[in-house]
Amino acid sequence: MPSTLDDFEVIETIGSGSYGTCKKIKRKRDGKFLVWKEMEYGTMTESEKQMLVSEVNLLRELKHQHIVRYYDRIIDRSNTTIYIIMEYCDGGDLAVLISKCRREGTYLDEDFVWKMLIQMTSALKECHRRKNGKAVLHRDLKPANIFLDSDNNVKLGDFGLARVLHHETSFAKTFVGTPYYMSPELVNNMSYNEKSDIWSMGCMLYEMCALHPPFTASNQVDLNKKICIGDYKRIPSRYSEDLNTIISKLLCVEVQKRPSIENILADPIVLRRNRKLDRVERRNSA
Ligand code: ATP
Ligand code: MG
Ligand code: MG
Repeated sequence: MPSTLDDFEVIETIGSGSYGTCKKIKRKRDGKFLVWKEMEYGTMTESEKQMLVSEVNLLRELKHQHIVRYYDRIIDRSNTTIYIIMEYCDGGDLAVLISKCRREGTYLDEDFVWKMLIQMTSALKECHRRKNGKAVLHRDLKPANIFLDSDNNVKLGDFGLARVLHHETSFAKTFVGTPYYMSPELVNNMSYNEKSDIWSMGCMLYEMCALHPPFTASNQVDLNKKICIGDYKRIPSRYSEDLNTIISKLLCVEVQKRPSIENILADPIVLRRNRKLDRVERRNSA
């Protein structure tokens, strides 16, 4: 049976973004905490409504341990608001961890950065996997949208703007995203594709090490220049050459040469790290 608004109790407002407000809710049936995102629906055009609903339907098909689960959507009786119901993540996010380090003058452990790399890659693999010729592009990858659970495992979330990409027809041209993480192809007004998500992941991993994005400038023009020539410094020397190598591969200015998810997973360095991580996890759970 489809759920209705009455099945939930609002606990508190978490925050608002440009497209709506997120609230922590409780499902009355079992007391489970969830989140819903309230978005204005009545003011959308018919085609926007259709697009949003089909986007949410696609997100609901993404069932993966490192992706925030999207459960349901409810449109209120007066057709003014849509409520998108999803998993609640209570472990904070990567942006919080990074700013904590900056404030306290500490760094994130290299093992933790590898764990994030591997779990984010596995989440993106699921998103980029074609379903009926469509891939889900995140489009807004940034530390604030990498949520963590209580065991510090990745939950990729806040797909708010992810657009469905029809591979056979066209590339989506809509520009979204944080300028610091914008890929060279987007700076050059080209289309967003899977490789742009890879670039953003490179920027996030870099920021987890350096505690600032790879490309910074006081104005957009200078920032764009740096991005397009790939002008950034090595991550701090406390991090290994292996990690530096992988991050530089993700930050490859040329789209064609930038690795895909499959390329990353097949990289000998990543395979080696993955095995090491498995051993650590097994030891911890023994
Ligand atoms: P914008 O989307 O405009 O860039 P935003 O991401 O801050 O901004 P929202 O997407 O509306 O705005 O999110 C509002 C708040 O809710 C943010 O603080 C976000 O971290 C939090 N949030 C979103 N999804 C979840 C979730 N599944 N669990 C816990 N908190 C969440
Ligand atoms: Mg967000
Ligand atoms: Mg958002």
